[in-house]
Amino acid sequence: MQYLATPVTSWGGFLFAVTRRKRAKQEHRNQARGKRGIMMANLKYIQHVYEELHKYPEISLEEFWTAGFVAEELRKMGFSVQTKVGGEGVVGRLELAGPGQTFAFRSDMDALPVLEETGASYASQNEGVMHACGHDSHMAMLLGVCRYASQQKQNLKGTLMAIFQPAEEIGAGARAMLEGGLFAATKPHRLVGIHNWPSLPAGQLGLQEGPISAYADTFKAAFLGQGGHGALPHKTKDPIAMAAMAVHNAFALVQRSFNAAYPQTLSFGVIKGGTRANVIPSKVSVEGTVRTVRTEDQDKMIGLLHQAFETSSALYGGEYVLEYRKGVDAVVNSAAVVGELRSIFERRIPAIPVVTQGLASLIGEDLAYYLYEVPGVLLYVGSGQQGLVNELHHPSFLVPRQTLETGYRALTSIVDEYLG
Ligand SMILES: [Zn+2]
Ligand SMILES: [Zn+2]
Repeated sequence: MQYLATPVTSWGGFLFAVTRRKRAKQEHRNQARGKRGIMMANLKYIQHVYEELHKYPEISLEEFWTAGFVAEELRKMGFSVQTKVGGEGVVGRLELAGPGQTFAFRSDMDALPVLEETGASYASQNEGVMHACGHDSHMAMLLGVCRYASQQKQNLKGTLMAIFQPAEEIGAGARAMLEGGLFAATKPHRLVGIHNWPSLPAGQLGLQEGPISAYADTFKAAFLGQGGHGALPHKTKDPIAMAAMAVHNAFALVQRSFNAAYPQTLSFGVIKGGTRANVIPSKVSVEGTVRTVRTEDQDKMIGLLHQAFETSSALYGGEYVLEYRKGVDAVVNSAAVVGELRSIFERRIPAIPVVTQGLASLIGEDLAYYLYEVPGVLLYVGSGQQGLVNELHHPSFLVPRQTLETGYRALTSIVDEYLG
């Protein structure tokens, strides 16, 4: 019968085995302490980068300073850097110690035309422009992970690809980067996009398979009639009546036409027409947005708008013109990659809660175009703070420190697993 895992044949051997075990334990402790030290230093760096980027926000297609900043940081870490990929896009590549797969992260870079009201010491220095969607935090987290990979280079294999994308807010950057040859040389094995998510409390992660954002389209329509005196409507073809009925008919049709299992919405944001109380105008225009999560619903919505506008304008003897613009496609998270990441988080960062349901929304996000090429997901990092209005695109929006830490821990665990 044997009670010891390591067979011991003499007292000398026994003492040696004990010392060896002690040494291994100590090494493990040192390693953990070392990793913790690295994390604390990198979190300091991430907070600093976040504040720096927050100070100098730039709107879509004008991310000149931001791109320069990101490229410089990557170069300092030893990444090979490609700039001007699809506009101001920056791509960093770090070859690790041995051969292996390529793993990609994507952060967006652009800010919004919002006047900041946070009162933070690092508030925007560019008046009327603000990082109100937290893209500054995404860049900071990604740079922090790049720094980690460069520090751990000898223990990792394969290639880390860091994609910094411009013009996300206008839904143009992803397509521009792909057309600019983003994957021409190497297509990554997996891609993870990150976005902070105020609907989740800071300290949590959100990861759900299937559609997570919407096909985000816009439309403009004009109702054309014949103007005249408000007291003599029988001599006119009233476009105000047409537009009012068209809005109502469109809502009524939408309410009865879709499978409730798949979310969709239609909203009008502009209605314009007329100059004074007693004059019926000859034209009224409307504008709106349509959100769907399936192409068949998107097509159906276009059909319903035509139907509603056609019947409403015909009723009053007028005509309509509809101009429908398809925006970004819905992001559909890969079930396989969601499964892989969940298992990584469970094993490597078990203390961080991962929410897996109720995350789909009808926002627009252009990550979909990468996911047509590479299996991947949009990973949410909670940024909600109890008792505070902390919503995306709000003038007082800030990303809490805890979000940066959760994001860093999630992304480094992904690097350790896929490139370890
Ligand atoms: Zn946004
Ligand atoms: Zn955003």
